[in-house]
Amino acid sequence: MSDSKITIVGAGPAGLTAAIFLGKHGYPVTVVEKDHFPRDKICGDCLGGYALSVMSQISDRFFNEFVNCDKKIVCTGVHFFGPQHQKISVPAVTLVKNRIHEVALSKRKDFDALLWQEARQYPSVHFINGIRISKIHRESSRLTLTGDEPGFEHRTDLLILASGSIRNLSRQLTGEKFNKKHYATGIRTYFENVAGWNEDAYIELHFLKDLAPGYLWIFPLPGNITNVGLGLRTDVLSRKGLDLKKTFQEILYEDEYFKNRFKNARQLEVVKGFPLALGGITRSLSGNNYLLAGDAGHLIEPLFGEGIGHAMYSGKFAAEHAIECLEKNNFSASFNKTYDHCVYQKLGTTIKFSKWMNKVAQYPALMKLLFNKVNRNKELKHHLFRIINGKTPKTRFKGIELIGRLIVGI
Ligand SMILES: Cc1cc2nc3c(=O)[nH]c(=O)nc-3n(C[C@H](O)[C@H](O)[C@H](O)COP(=O)(O)OP(=O)(O)OC[C@H]3O[C@@H](n4cnc5c(N)ncnc54)[C@H](O)[C@@H]3O)c2cc1C
Repeated sequence: MSDSKITIVGAGPAGLTAAIFLGKHGYPVTVVEKDHFPRDKICGDCLGGYALSVMSQISDRFFNEFVNCDKKIVCTGVHFFGPQHQKISVPAVTLVKNRIHEVALSKRKDFDALLWQEARQYPSVHFINGIRISKIHRESSRLTLTGDEPGFEHRTDLLILASGSIRNLSRQLTGEKFNKKHYATGIRTYFENVAGWNEDAYIELHFLKDLAPGYLWIFPLPGNITNVGLGLRTDVLSRKGLDLKKTFQEILYEDEYFKNRFKNARQLEVVKGFPLALGGITRSLSGNNYLLAGDAGHLIEPLFGEGIGHAMYSGKFAAEHAIECLEKNNFSASFNKTYDHCVYQKLGTTIKFSKWMNKVAQYPALMKLLFNKVNRNKELKHHLFRIINGKTPKTRFKGIELIGRLIVGI
C-alpha cells in the first residue's frame, strides 16, 4: 500500500496543471494516470484564452517554450457559419502577454505531453503511470484508491480527482445521477488537404440546422492537417435519434457546401468519439478529502465545448487550495468549500452565459437572425470573439442584455 498526503488521479490538463503548481512550490504529490505519455485525447485541440492565460502563469520559460514551439498554430480569427452557411469573420485582436493571439491549436497528444514534461521536472511530483483507479473508499479520515492492477492500493488525505468526463470515479464521491442534459457527445478525426482553409489560420464553427444546438468544426493544425469534428448535447442527440458518425459522413461528403472542400481530402484516422461533461448548474466541487477538477467537476463551457482552459484554471486553484489544506492540516468538506468558491468566481459567469447561448443555438431561426444582425455590427462581432475566450459579461443583467443585443442586433 502506497501513501501520499496529496494525490491527483488523471494527468490531463486539470491534473497536470495541479501537479505543476504543487511542484513549483515544492509540495509532494503523487499523480496516478492510466495511460503512458505521449497519449491521445479526443478533442478539438483548440486552446482558448483561459488555457493560454494559465500557461503564462506557470512561468515565462514555459510560456515562451510553447510560443516558440512548432507543434502549435496561432489562430488569427474565427469564421462563424450560420444555418445557411452565412459567414461572420472575426479577426483575433487580443494577445496574451503581447506574445500570442488568444487562441492557439495544438494536437492534444503534443500539448498534454508538453504539460507532462513540465510537471515531471519538479522533484516533488511523483508519477504512477499505467494504473487505472477503479474504486475510491473512505477509511476513517482518509481515502483509499484501488487500482486495476492486483494489490494496488494508495491512501491519501486529499484527492484531486481530475479523471475527465467518464464518470465512474466522480460518481463514487458525489453520488450524482447521470443526466443526458448535462453531457454532450463529440466526435473528431484528422484530415490532410481540406480545401479552402489554411491561408488565414482561422478556425471555423458551422452551426448547421440539423445539429442545433451543436456545431461542426474545422480547426487548422500545423502541417496542412485539420481537426474536423462535431458535438451535440446528448439529450438532443437521443431525441433526434441521430447516428453522429453517419451524420458526420453525410455532411462532409453529401452536403453541397462541404463536399467540394473534402473531395480531395485524406482522412488520417478513424472517427473517434468521447463524452463532454458540461457545466451549467452550480454543483458541489468538493467534499471531505476531495476536490473535483476539470471535466470531473463538469466545468466544460456548454456553447463551444471549451474545457481545456477551465480544466487548467481549476487545476491551479485545486493546487493552491491543497497547499492551504496541508498548512492548516484541514481536509474537511467545509474547509474545501473555498475551492468551489474560487472556481465559480473565475468560471461561473462564462459557464452560465454559455448555457443561455446554447439555448439560443437550439433554434435555427434565432441563429439565422443572430447571424444576419451581427454581421452588420462590428462591435457585436467583437463580442462574439470575446465570448469564445470566456470574456463574458460580469453580471447577470449584462449577460441578458448582450444575448438580447446579439439577437436583435442593436
Ligand atoms: C470531441 C471533443 C472535442 C473537444 N474540443 C475541445 C476544444 O477544442 N477546446 C477545448 O478547450 N476543449 C475541448 N474539449 C473538452 C476538453 O477535451 C476537456 O474539457 C479537457 O480535456 C478536460 O481536461 P481534464 O484534465 O479535466 O480531463 P482529460 O483531458 O479527459 O484527462 C483525464 C485524464 O485522466 C485519466 N484517467 C481517466 N480515468 C482514470 C482512472 N480511472 N485512473 C487513472 N487515470 C484516469 C485519462 O487517461 C486522462 O489522462 C473537447 C472534448 C471532446 C470530447
